[in-house]
Amino acid sequence: MGIEETLKALEEIGFGEVYITEGAVGRKKVEVKDKKRLLEEHFASFKDCVKCPLHRSRSQVVFSDGSPESPVVFVGEAPGEEEDAQGKPFVGRAGRYLNQKISEVMGMKREEVYITNVCKCRPPENRKPTPQEIRACFPYLRKEIEIVKPKVICCLGSTAGEGILGKTMSVTKVRGKVFPYPYDPKIKVFLTYHPAYILRNPKAEGEFVEDLKKLKELIG
Ligand code: SF4
Repeated sequence: MGIEETLKALEEIGFGEVYITEGAVGRKKVEVKDKKRLLEEHFASFKDCVKCPLHRSRSQVVFSDGSPESPVVFVGEAPGEEEDAQGKPFVGRAGRYLNQKISEVMGMKREEVYITNVCKCRPPENRKPTPQEIRACFPYLRKEIEIVKPKVICCLGSTAGEGILGKTMSVTKVRGKVFPYPYDPKIKVFLTYHPAYILRNPKAEGEFVEDLKKLKELIG
């Protein structure tokens, strides 16, 4: 996707002005010989992070799970109680449901996809992270995406979409749509519901399945 198409697509979802940060577009391709090692080094660099207030409510920083060779990066909101205890994203009820749907609809195992969150620390009472907390944590996610270089980033819920696209949005309005990733327009950003929302609203499961089918087509 070219720069003009990128700007047009971002304008459609309400970006009045877009700032292209240094190295964001047209940057030199980074050779990634050992993504796993790079991710481990990256995590080690912020596992004691205290950049935002969420460090007070966590047991540990929760990084990612799955394959760094995955064509898709699933991005959720933040760790919950079980994730905080185990140090892995999406291991609670919503995570098990996501695993099941990835397998049933996309024919992929959890170990074959890359799963992470916008915020790496558990918010108190599992509240939604604030825009300031999302912004504070985003550089860590951006670096992960730079290392993994997926074809598609699948945002699970509006908080993930806000983190990736930098814009507040309603998932019900933008689900199933594709946007360019502002920091690398060759990567597609796709939005759907958070699995926890489907568990609370089973009537939306059909739309969620429809979205995962589309995601499967996007990753080829
Ligand atoms: S949520 Fe992110 S920015 Fe905030 S303390 Fe945890 S790792 Fe640091």
